[in-house]
Amino acid sequence: MIATRFAPSPNGSLHLGHAYAAVVAHDLARAHGGLFRLRIEDIDGARSRPELAREALDDLAWLGLAWDGPVRYQSQRLADHAAAGERLKSLGLLYPCHCTRAEIAAAATTMGPDGPVYPGTCKHRAAAPEGAAWRLDMGKALALTGPLNWYDECAGLQAADPARFGDVVLLRKDLPASYHLAATLDDAADGITLVTRGLDLFAATHIHRLLQALLGLPVPVWHHHALLVETDGRKLAKRRGSPSLADRRRAGEDGRAIAQALREGTFPAGLSLGEGVALLP
Ligand code: GLU
Repeated sequence: MIATRFAPSPNGSLHLGHAYAAVVAHDLARAHGGLFRLRIEDIDGARSRPELAREALDDLAWLGLAWDGPVRYQSQRLADHAAAGERLKSLGLLYPCHCTRAEIAAAATTMGPDGPVYPGTCKHRAAAPEGAAWRLDMGKALALTGPLNWYDECAGLQAADPARFGDVVLLRKDLPASYHLAATLDDAADGITLVTRGLDLFAATHIHRLLQALLGLPVPVWHHHALLVETDGRKLAKRRGSPSLADRRRAGEDGRAIAQALREGTFPAGLSLGEGVALLP
């Protein structure tokens, strides 16, 4: 049985782009008689707000998207994330790093999908583990796994290419995880077989596939969908006047009708679907 998920981070109100992502995950699960799971990615203590997590649940109910099973909270999995981090450390695949963003920006010579590629400064100077972030030694990791592939329902078979990210942070200074490690571990723990999310996270999947190989996790299929964008091509953002789902809900709009319009490709004025594959064939 397939299982999909919607995994919002409660650090801002959900908007129509999130609604679209939730509709994709929900409808793909329903089309295959599978499960639609909801996971709140609330490990960023500085930015996550419990009231926004509650708001997201209300938004989904208003859209008419019922999830299966209990809501999963990523913050309850920190011990599992830490254990996986220890395993990677014991394999000699992580090293501590104390560099600041500014130092990295000044020393980097290459740009990766997420910004400057880490130039490896701390790899060569045996940095102290206390208070460090822990980076993946990409060269060592790839030597261990060899070439890997992953499959996207829309884009087809992909040769994993995590090297372009360089030595990514897997354990943050303030957390026993990073988005990449936490999302990969939690998708496995939640039994997700079809990872549905926006195309903005397509490149991140190269890292997730590598982590699955290193940690012996099951390998799902991915479905990266097109993003809802403003007509000038920019991603939706509340600060540019795109009302949140909660604003629309409180204004008395019909959430189910909005979900249906998103399915049918009838978007509110000023919005369209960016490049990529639409919801369902
Ligand atoms: N929590 C992420 C976000 O809200 C999504 C993560 C994912 O789908 O893998 O952007």
